[in-house]
Amino acid sequence: MIQLEDIPSLRAQVRRWKQDRLTIGLIPTMGYFHEGHLALMRHVAQLCDKTVATIFVNPRQFGPQEDLTNYPRDLQRDAELAGNNGVHLLFSPSPDDIYPQDYQTDVTVKNLSQGLCGTSRPGHFVGVATVVSKLFNLVQPDIAVFGQKDYQQLAVLKRLVMDLNFPVEIISHPIVREADGLAMSSRNKNLSPQSRQNALCLYKALQYAAQKVGEKKQLPARQIIDELSNRLKPIAECEIDYISIVDPATLKEKDIVQSGDLLALAAYFNNKVRLIDNIIL
Ligand code: AMP
Repeated sequence: MIQLEDIPSLRAQVRRWKQDRLTIGLIPTMGYFHEGHLALMRHVAQLCDKTVATIFVNPRQFGPQEDLTNYPRDLQRDAELAGNNGVHLLFSPSPDDIYPQDYQTDVTVKNLSQGLCGTSRPGHFVGVATVVSKLFNLVQPDIAVFGQKDYQQLAVLKRLVMDLNFPVEIISHPIVREADGLAMSSRNKNLSPQSRQNALCLYKALQYAAQKVGEKKQLPARQIIDELSNRLKPIAECEIDYISIVDPATLKEKDIVQSGDLLALAAYFNNKVRLIDNIIL
C-alpha cells in the first residue's frame, strides 16, 4: 500500500492510474479505523481497480465546543488495517495542506443540511461538503462509498454530487454494528466501560420503535418520540440531543409515521461523547 501525505504526490499517482485507465474508489474517513470502515474498504476493493482511503480529521466540521482535539488518532495502526483490507493508497493530508492560509471557499448543501445533526452542529455539513468536494477533485474517483450510519451526511453528499455534477457514483453501505447492536464508531473508544454499556440503549430504542411501527403501521411521530425519550431519559449519563422521524429522501419531519420512514437520534454519553444511530422503520 502506498502512503501519501502531500497533494502533489497524490495527484501524480492518480494521474498514472488514470493514464492506465484504472477505476478508482474512494473512502473518505477521519481514521481510527473499526470494522465499519474496513467493511467499506473491502466493498470498494471489489468494485474498483484501485482503492483510495483518506484520513483527515477535518477541523471545519467540528464546532468550537466539540471533540476535535480528543478525536482518536493512530495513523500507524490505521495504515496496517487499511493495507490488510484492500486499500492501495492511504492519503492523510495535514489541515494546512487542505486549508492553506487565506482559504476562502465553502460548499453548502442548503436544505438537507438543516435539522437532525445540522441543528446541534451548525456548520458541520458545510465542513463535510467542502472537504468531500476537495477530495473528489483530488482523487477523481469513479465511486465513493459512505456509511448509512451518517445518514444525513449521505443525503447531503448525494445531493452535492447531483447539484455540482461531480462524475462520481455515491454508494451507501449498511451500518456495521458490534455483536450487541451498538453502531461502530471511532468515538466509542472514548466511552467509559459503564457508558459503553449504557450506549446500547440507542440501538434498543431504534429496535423498539421499528417493532411498534411494524405492528401498528401508522402512528403519530410525537407518540413514538415521547416514548423513546421516556425510555432514554432515566439512563445514567445519557443526554438526548435529538430523536427525529423524517422522510428518508427530504429529511423533513413526519407527523404520521409509516414504514420506510427514517428514525434518527443522537445522544451524549459521559458528558462529551456524542453518538448517533438510525434505522429505516
Ligand atoms: P468517519 O471516520 O466516522 O468519518 O467515517 C468514515 C466513513 O465510514 C463514513 O462514510 C461513515 O458513514 C462510515 N462509517 C462509520 N462508522 C460506520 C459504521 N458503523 N457502519 C457503516 N459505516 C460507517
